[in-house]
Amino acid sequence: DTEMPRKPDWIRVRAPNSKGYHETRSIVQDHGLITVCEEAGCPNIGECWDKKHATFMIMGEICTRACAFCNVSTGRPMPLNTNEPESVAHAVAQMGLNHVVITSVDRDDLDDGGAEHFARVIRAIRQSAPGTTIEILTPDFLRKPSALETVVEAKPDVFNHNLETVAGNYLTVRPGARYFHSIRLLQKVKELDPSMFTKSGIMVGLGEERNAVLQLMDDLRTGDVDFLTIGQYLQPTRKHHRVERFVTPEEFASYETSAYTKGFLMVSASPLTRSSYHAGDDFARLRAA
Ligand code: SF4
Ligand code: SF4
Repeated sequence: DTEMPRKPDWIRVRAPNSKGYHETRSIVQDHGLITVCEEAGCPNIGECWDKKHATFMIMGEICTRACAFCNVSTGRPMPLNTNEPESVAHAVAQMGLNHVVITSVDRDDLDDGGAEHFARVIRAIRQSAPGTTIEILTPDFLRKPSALETVVEAKPDVFNHNLETVAGNYLTVRPGARYFHSIRLLQKVKELDPSMFTKSGIMVGLGEERNAVLQLMDDLRTGDVDFLTIGQYLQPTRKHHRVERFVTPEEFASYETSAYTKGFLMVSASPLTRSSYHAGDDFARLRAA
């Protein structure tokens, strides 16, 4: 166990209680859906759910990996729920979302890593909610040949895959994943479909050096990645990786400037930035530009 450090005052979170929040909550519950917003104990839940923005987690609540920062349980997952694509699609339509983010646990146990299920969810949303833009946040499909092609063929609007942390932290923070495999995955998305936007994100405060973050930006740009998110890591429980440091808002601003200089089209870097935070607003602004 590690000590939970006190949060600085720039990480302020209001308890969720608005009407919109409760509406979103009941739609999520009625459809028996799982959201990252709840699973990760995301500090933005009040704001996002009030605006009817949510990130759905598909393929169950149990993950085959065990990342040191993540609150999702590790173990042997349940079989896929074949009704899930329709349930998610109905919820998206009912919520009237402009933009939806779909993510999943890692399913190393499935032959295709869950790629076909991802594609089904994308197609079901297209059918039920044709006006909604779709962002997917996928596992790395390590050792799952042709999984990536299956997902890209379903044509999500944004393909997001998070690097989570700098290369030097992989063994301790993201065991089971490979830094350059993840970079290459994003690069391949662009090769398969140059019209698709690609995105990645990291958490900071895990002991990374500033130079390693700048190197990571260069590595992502080598893979033609378009969008980048950088947020403060928060420790979900005492059993998880400790927060090494709270990165200041000024440092976040400086990361944002560097990222734009390196050619990213859209960057969000702030203490409460999450992979899916403001994703819809940002994407709408970009499309209108
Ligand atoms: Fe959910 Fe993402 Fe908003 Fe957090 S930032 S509440 S995970 S949509
Ligand atoms: Fe959590 Fe994703 Fe790692 Fe699984 S692969 S433990 S869901 S971060």
